[in-house]
Amino acid sequence: MPIVESGPIPQFTMAPARKGKPPTHFADLDSAQRKQAMKEQGYPAFRADQLARHYFERHETDAAVMSDLPAAQRTQLVAEFFPPLLHKVRDLTADHGNTIKSVWRLFDGAMIETVLMRYPNRATLCISSQAGCGMACPFCATGQGGLTRNLSAAEIVEQVRLGMVAAERGDLAGEATRVTNIVFMGMGEPLSNWRQVRIALHRLIEPPPSGFGLSARGITVSTVGMVPLIDKLADEGFPVTLAVSLHAPDDELRNPLIPLNSRFSVAQLLDAARRYFERTGRRVSIEYALIRDMNDHKWRAQMLADELNKRGRGWVHVNPIPLNPTPGSIWTASTPQAQRVFVDTLVAAGIPTTIRDTRGSDIDGACGQLAAEVKRGSDRAKKAAQAVAAAVKEATA
Ligand code: SAH
Repeated sequence: MPIVESGPIPQFTMAPARKGKPPTHFADLDSAQRKQAMKEQGYPAFRADQLARHYFERHETDAAVMSDLPAAQRTQLVAEFFPPLLHKVRDLTADHGNTIKSVWRLFDGAMIETVLMRYPNRATLCISSQAGCGMACPFCATGQGGLTRNLSAAEIVEQVRLGMVAAERGDLAGEATRVTNIVFMGMGEPLSNWRQVRIALHRLIEPPPSGFGLSARGITVSTVGMVPLIDKLADEGFPVTLAVSLHAPDDELRNPLIPLNSRFSVAQLLDAARRYFERTGRRVSIEYALIRDMNDHKWRAQMLADELNKRGRGWVHVNPIPLNPTPGSIWTASTPQAQRVFVDTLVAAGIPTTIRDTRGSDIDGACGQLAAEVKRGSDRAKKAAQAVAAAVKEATA
């Protein structure tokens, strides 16, 4: 798998971050850039590898335990290369200790959330790619708060390291465990922060000491449908799983539900998803929040199946998820009966379909609920929902 990076070396400085720009961190840099940065700061280049082993193999940033580094330099090295980027505000636990939502404050006061989930054979960490989100989907709490800013690569990588530390020290119920899967399904639209997400993906996937050495197959990048960047993700050459937040098989409904759909239609998006499958061999996952009497009709399930089958067999599976409640929203989840009919219709058409298990909804940790306790925007949510209803009525009149 070609993992090569190039480009200018981010400026390394101990000066406080400029407004809007987090301090540069070791995890922002690739192997060559780290060596270069060491030299620039007056250290031998091989210190880069030593620090990388602490960070990527042991998930460690505590100078006190880095006994292979000269005592006189440890604190300084850590201060220069591992500036603390994420400060924990609180943990909220659900599902008998099998789900932990963590709220983090960034250097500039922006807030993000991560969710760590234990399953029988894996532990999955859901991470954020942006503080807030600019996609403005009216059914999603994050979208209602707007975008605060993009995260830096290291702010993304640090979420993963801290999630790993939590799992390894036994924060979840049961035995200590390891994070096996990462989903970019927290706050933000990962493909609209592609430059930083791309760097973060390299750090997650490259083998130590370059990165954590996580399996690309265990990493899912979820997008609302930034078509050109889906192709860029495929260009990158590592087989991460692509998830597409579709929620409607027709432009009439998807336009008001997902504002970005007015730029890239359902057909363009599904074509891009199919290309992704062809280029990576990875089965694409279609996310579909089931909203009562909005998108959960049997005919829409059939239309979805037809749109997918038209583009081939065996390349996709569908993950419906009953809508999670968000502040101010007038929508609710589909009835169990409607959910069943929706799933059965897809399955009968030969589309593998599994209802997604929804974790952490009682701690606002589930899909669409992450808002870092920013509870503004509930009026906006109501207005947006009404606008969608009006648009749908007009389109179907
Ligand atoms: N912006 C990316 C990554 C976020 S993933 C994306 O949209 O794919 C979060 C997932 O939760 C997306 O599929 C999103 O559509 C879905 N979601 C948003 N609000 C939801 C809600 N209220 N209930 C269930 N799923 C929701």
